[in-house]
Amino acid sequence: MTNKEIRVRIAPSPTGSLHLGTVRTALYNYLLAKKLGGKFILRVEDTDVQRNKDEYTKGILDGFKWLNIDFDEGPIYQSDRLDIYKKCAEKLLSEGKAYHCFCTTEELDDLRKIQRAAKQPEKYDNRHRNLTEDQKKQFIEEGRKAIIRFKLPDNTDIKWNDEIRGPISVNTSDLGGDPVIMRADGIPLYNFAVVIDDGEMRMSHVIRGDDHLHNTAKQIPMFEALGFTLPSFGHAPLIFSQDREKLSKRKHGEIANIAKYQNEGYLPEALSNYLIHMSWTIPGNSEKEIFTIDEAAPLFELSRISKNPAVYDIDKLNWFNNHYIKEKSLEEVYKMSKKYLEPTLNLSMYSEEQILKMVDAIKAGLNKLDEVPGLIKFFFDENMPIDTDENKAILSTENAKKVLEKLLASLDKLDFSNPPACKKTVDEIGKELSLKGKDLYWPIRVAISGSNKGPDLGLVISLLGKERIKSRIERALKVLV
Ligand code: GLU
Repeated sequence: MTNKEIRVRIAPSPTGSLHLGTVRTALYNYLLAKKLGGKFILRVEDTDVQRNKDEYTKGILDGFKWLNIDFDEGPIYQSDRLDIYKKCAEKLLSEGKAYHCFCTTEELDDLRKIQRAAKQPEKYDNRHRNLTEDQKKQFIEEGRKAIIRFKLPDNTDIKWNDEIRGPISVNTSDLGGDPVIMRADGIPLYNFAVVIDDGEMRMSHVIRGDDHLHNTAKQIPMFEALGFTLPSFGHAPLIFSQDREKLSKRKHGEIANIAKYQNEGYLPEALSNYLIHMSWTIPGNSEKEIFTIDEAAPLFELSRISKNPAVYDIDKLNWFNNHYIKEKSLEEVYKMSKKYLEPTLNLSMYSEEQILKMVDAIKAGLNKLDEVPGLIKFFFDENMPIDTDENKAILSTENAKKVLEKLLASLDKLDFSNPPACKKTVDEIGKELSLKGKDLYWPIRVAISGSNKGPDLGLVISLLGKERIKSRIERALKVLV
């Protein structure tokens, strides 16, 4: 029997920020729900009271909202459901499918040490599975606190047909012994709470990262023991760094944290497109890289998700983001860039029309929106450093001096309202001095913008206007050596 109604979920734990991998898994579930006309549920797995933080929960909810991933049900909080988990544990105990384990931390440590010394896999040896009533009484009298463990079937192959990886078989003897399902304080462990929730919430599919393969093998017997219908399982490959390591905060800093992309001016549609495309291509046209969630949904198939690890590639992500930025109107890009511009530049120095022209000049080259202030900063900064070694080399030639003096003397002739005309005047100066290309443009660019690269020179001259051009050239002439 399977659950007929399509119901899928994403179940983040608020023990850290919203992770890139969680978002990718959420997107695959979201696409599946859309394709099959099912429901997508958000469940916050917040039973780890020591490591949970409200700010993480908030960041997770904000992150999904930012990505325009919406849910049909939830957020459902596991912390509101503790009584349900307790009842299920009691049921399993009364049916002999779970048992109290009184082992102390020291005893378990000793067991592990012995196994390590014998070069055996470390696992719980199920030693309290069949305690007599007297033994239990004795432990209780000693003041020991009991946890609850689930009785896994012995030496049994747990098999399922994985939606992504195909047939899987894991033997129960490789699962570390009977898993703990309840702590002594009545808080359930992940593997138990997740089964009860996926069972009670009638999930048709559980699609998650392939770091959960062994958990699935532990969970399937629990589903059966609790009498729930089994969902269909699918395990997507994890995201690895270029050096083939699992993305982690310790090793890779913030790159796995969605907040980084929110803060740096990535567009949610670019990030979604990139994350889906990492391990999934459109059937019939694997060349097609740019697509929206709505375009991908009707074509989505779990079986097309690659089994190989996905590799994080910032250049590729930037390529997607650049594409989506270019697709936005100038006004939208300006509006979205304001949060980066306002704290750094004195925008009142120019009219909005002029600032729009500046943004327009750099828009096509943007990887992300937080680059905007840096790229147009020179318009606003009369004291920008121009005496770098590279700039000095450009300015210190005889020709550079001639170009700048000539431009200074021609300022009255320039039509500052007309960028192509400004450029033309510069070219005329070049003709008079028999200079062109970098010999002509670079000294001017360095003098007025602090760099030999940048937006269209005519536009830069026109926007800066006569007074700024004059004082900047005079300042540059002083730097000439
Ligand atoms: N809370 C678990 C996690 O964040 C959920 C895994 C699952 O989808 O079952 O890894």
